[in-house]
Amino acid sequence: MKGMLASEQKKDLQECLICKQEKGHGIHVVNYFICESCEHELVTSDTNDEAYKEYLYKLRKVRDSLFQNKRRIH
Ligand SMILES: [Zn+2]
Repeated sequence: MKGMLASEQKKDLQECLICKQEKGHGIHVVNYFICESCEHELVTSDTNDEAYKEYLYKLRKVRDSLFQNKRRIH
């Protein structure tokens, strides 16, 4: 079912780094996108929470790719 409709909706929807769902609202961390609901969970979650650890793990991947980009500047 991902035909022409999908390409039209793509303009406003972005894949969330955390939940991997396509959302219209959220924040950008560098060139990554975190949707509103994930962001909310992160701000409200305890640092000992599993969700928060998952978040940190994913953010680490973002950071790693940033460092890689810096090293590979042409
Ligand atoms: Zn999300």
